[in-house]
Amino acid sequence: MEQVTRRRVICGNWKMYKTIDQALHFIDELSPIVANANCNVYLAVPFTAIKLMADKAKELHISIGAQNMNDATEGAFTGEVAALMVKDAGASFVLLGHSERRRVFKEDNAFINRKVKRALQSDLEPILCIGETFEEREEGRTQEVLKEQLTACLNGVDRELAKKLIVAYEPVWAIGSGKAATSEIAEEIQSFCRETLASLFDAEVADRTPLLYGGSVTSENSKDFLNQPNIDGLLIGSASLHPESFAKIIQLCQNSASSNDSLAKGE
Ligand code: PEP
Repeated sequence: MEQVTRRRVICGNWKMYKTIDQALHFIDELSPIVANANCNVYLAVPFTAIKLMADKAKELHISIGAQNMNDATEGAFTGEVAALMVKDAGASFVLLGHSERRRVFKEDNAFINRKVKRALQSDLEPILCIGETFEEREEGRTQEVLKEQLTACLNGVDRELAKKLIVAYEPVWAIGSGKAATSEIAEEIQSFCRETLASLFDAEVADRTPLLYGGSVTSENSKDFLNQPNIDGLLIGSASLHPESFAKIIQLCQNSASSNDSLAKGE
């Protein structure tokens, strides 16, 4: 029986919080806890903190990433930052399609698709965020919306490069609201996303892609999500701003890692 090992990823998203000093202080507090982490610890930090954080995080096996990037290689785009620039600063991954980017900055699937392709070409791991609004869920359109987002955002992505992809399911109604999805809802959706990835690429790509849940994750509810077979990690906003709560979630991930690290595939 062939075994597929999926990485477990705990990713913090700091949004527009923390100066460089605050970021470095955070990592000093976190370092003893993550020293032996057997899951992948990721932090999406403000652009201004990437370089120093990446230098400091190297020895701690924490991956530092950006929260956004532009799809162009370079050019007259005042205020924008290119993939090669965040890579050059030390980022190894980038969040793309976060609902705040979609809602506040009007990013659409076509733009996000170009960014996903540019990130992959630039050797940056994209964490593609997808999620339905409250209204879309109420209208019974959740799967339709997610399938559309996955299909459009991954259009034309090379199968080999797709192996570097991470997908985060973040229901818009759960982000920053204190109302997390139930672990059952998140599992059902991630199982659907895995099927969709299999139809867009193939079973191998779908089986190896880490699928994260995000939306009001706390140190109290994280274990329920991590115990689900199709949830390989978490994308965390508020609870990643404090070393204590973020560390607690990392520890919970370590303890639950053995349960779905290896997944049977086929006979
Ligand atoms: C996020 O910003 O991706 C997020 C999930 O935020 P929060 O954990 O605060 O809901």
